[in-house]
Amino acid sequence: MNYTEETFQLFSKHVNPSMAASLRLAGLDVVEDHAEGAFIWDSDGRRYLDFLGLYGTMSVGHRHPRVVEAVRRQLDRMAMPAKVMLSRPAAELAERLTSLAPGNMQYAFFGNSGAEAVEGAIKIARAATGRHKIVSAFNAFHGKTMGALALTPKPEYQTPFLPMLTGVAHVPFGDLAALDAVCDADTAALILEPVQGEGGVIIPPPGYLRAARQLTSERGVLLIADEVQTGLGRTGKWFAVQHDDIEPDMMTLAKALGGGIMPIGAFLARKELWKPFEQDYKVHSSTFGGNPLACSAGLATLQVIEDEGLVLRSAELGASMLASLQRLQAQFPYFITQVRGLGLMIGIEFVSADVGTLFISEMSKQGVLTAFGLNQPKMIRIEPPLNLTDDEAQLGLEAIETSLVGVKTELEHFGLLSNGVLAVSD
Ligand code: PLP
Repeated sequence: MNYTEETFQLFSKHVNPSMAASLRLAGLDVVEDHAEGAFIWDSDGRRYLDFLGLYGTMSVGHRHPRVVEAVRRQLDRMAMPAKVMLSRPAAELAERLTSLAPGNMQYAFFGNSGAEAVEGAIKIARAATGRHKIVSAFNAFHGKTMGALALTPKPEYQTPFLPMLTGVAHVPFGDLAALDAVCDADTAALILEPVQGEGGVIIPPPGYLRAARQLTSERGVLLIADEVQTGLGRTGKWFAVQHDDIEPDMMTLAKALGGGIMPIGAFLARKELWKPFEQDYKVHSSTFGGNPLACSAGLATLQVIEDEGLVLRSAELGASMLASLQRLQAQFPYFITQVRGLGLMIGIEFVSADVGTLFISEMSKQGVLTAFGLNQPKMIRIEPPLNLTDDEAQLGLEAIETSLVGVKTELEHFGLLSNGVLAVSD
């Protein structure tokens, strides 16, 4: 048995059989080996352009030399925190993030993932307001730990683990009247992704976030912006709430913050919300959270994003790639329903999840990695590094076009598409 097949068997038997099977279906039952910039190589030496970027994590690409160097330097001094001494990297990163983020933030708490950041934010919201109800949107994705999962109202993810955390309500994303009806005197917080990521790159209607900000302020409800995926330049602004010029009360971050080198999550809050922590620091804690390796990666990443002008790059390259993809949509109207995006957070929506899967597998044949949205399998995401070069963008766009031709040929071959009429339903 060769190395790849042996890994497949081991992974199926001991890690996750259904994931292994679905990777095989997509033609991605290969073994990842090494990565650099926008590319990953498998163990057979085949190169893939990474247009998934670990769900929007790889904003500065794989193994950015300045982030690697910062982490290496820290590793040579101290990797994990003592936790009973002060941490300079954590203090510096908290200062840097709170001054970058809109909303008069003062404190940052560091954990190790997006879900952990969300958990902390909703705990603080309850403690700071003395209220219990948390509101999130349908189709939202806030993570899969028990608290975050309660805010991620997808039956497939919740049902096996019922009952969920109590005191949670959901509203349709973009529906102000629903928000008006649900935000009452028991409501501690409203948590929203400024652009729903896993839900299918859903951009809210103009004015929604501003109106939500106003409504929550009037009712003493805290607004938590979940910028785990949208934050740090992904949508063409440092933070996606800046498209609507609003200031949240709290913000969650993760993914890009670790520069694709270290896992890290954070939630930021204004000073007055931190009261319970100011009185007793032990009310919320994490052994590994705020460790020097992750925080030094975070500091280097913020500096790279700034020095390389990656927020503007995301806005400009995102706009031009979106326009190119929309032109492609016009060539394949029978199976692409929409192409939408903001900055380098772009979604191609197909008529069905099956056609989307076919596209992923054609893309893998072309050596480009993509995946569907966790809440929306019809939507295939394009989230490359923000420092993608023009040549790499061109390579990816050409692969997308070839893959779309491949999808069309396959559908025609199986008699599912003829004379521009598709016999595939949702
Ligand atoms: N919040 C948002 C908006 C996300 O997109 C995600 C993950 O995709 C999470 C939270 C959860 O992050 P993690 O997978 O790091 O727990």
